[in-house]
Amino acid sequence: MVIVLKQDASKEQINHVVEVVRSLGARTHISRGEERTIIGVIGDKRNVQKEQLMALPGVENVISILQPYKLVSREFKHDDTIVRVNGVEIGGGTPVMIAGPCSVENERQIIESAWIVKNHGGQLLRGGAFKPRTNPYSFQGLGVEGLRLLQKAKEETGLPIVTEVMQAGDAELVAEYSDILQIGARNMQNYMLLKAVGRLDKPVLLKRGMSATLKEFLMSAEYIMSEGNNNVILCERGIRTFVDFTRNTLDLNIVPAIKKLSHLPIIVDPSHGTGRTDLVIPMGLAGLAAGADGLMVEIHPNPEKAWSDADQTLNPEQFAELMHKFKHFIEWQKSLYAEI
Ligand code: PEP
Ligand code: MN
Repeated sequence: MVIVLKQDASKEQINHVVEVVRSLGARTHISRGEERTIIGVIGDKRNVQKEQLMALPGVENVISILQPYKLVSREFKHDDTIVRVNGVEIGGGTPVMIAGPCSVENERQIIESAWIVKNHGGQLLRGGAFKPRTNPYSFQGLGVEGLRLLQKAKEETGLPIVTEVMQAGDAELVAEYSDILQIGARNMQNYMLLKAVGRLDKPVLLKRGMSATLKEFLMSAEYIMSEGNNNVILCERGIRTFVDFTRNTLDLNIVPAIKKLSHLPIIVDPSHGTGRTDLVIPMGLAGLAAGADGLMVEIHPNPEKAWSDADQTLNPEQFAELMHKFKHFIEWQKSLYAEI
């Protein structure tokens, strides 16, 4: 249920509505838009009557949301959410580029990677310090040392950091060193972790689970938002299918489908989505054509030597080519909208 307040509703009226909802046993989620404030009613709504809320001063309308996901839905919030990170806008209409190595390996590697991203016009640096690996004997990431190196790369280049948090207990630690907290595909349904990052004041990049349906994906985003964190970015990174010539199947259908149902930004990761360097550029561009708010790609100064995901990693020249096409795409997109 969503309570839409009148444009001129006063602070006192809004507070009163919140108090009434709470006294009825439900929880509230306030979203202050440019024009008006809306209050999501979540949790136990057994005692909440639409008519009672409609009668409160300052209330314009009370809408029931039929889908199980509420706060992430377009019915709750009509306008696109823009996530702002150190001056970069994700979801503001111009696609953004997040790039960096799969894993942070050492100081030189991450600083070099950061400069490659920066010099070609990428806006955010990615890099895993805590790595979810299928094989327990594979490199598991540098941990806290990796976070420190990412911070150093940020200090040198000014690029904000995106890095993965794997367990709820690490959420605050990883948040100290990063600008966006990544939740990996394998953890999309780790509800304790989703709640933990939902309580932090830090944007979250939620990757789609490899067998997650659209509904499950949005429900996971709902977990984060229901704890009070509105800054959620979704990421399509490929799903498991019978296809065996790529690591995953990049499900670009979900991009426009999500845009219809949700106000949250969605980006595309063609690196994990294909698992093949030769497919990253075409599928990244396809993601943009599908309406993605940005891309996340894996790059490395020398992919042959990468400690993880070498087969899907772009070298500096390939990244330069992607950025060249990416910028052209943005120009084309602008001229297309100008025509309409
Ligand atoms: C990653 O971004 O390096 C990663 C581990 O991705 P995913 O969780 O999508 O597999
Ligand atoms: Mn990877």
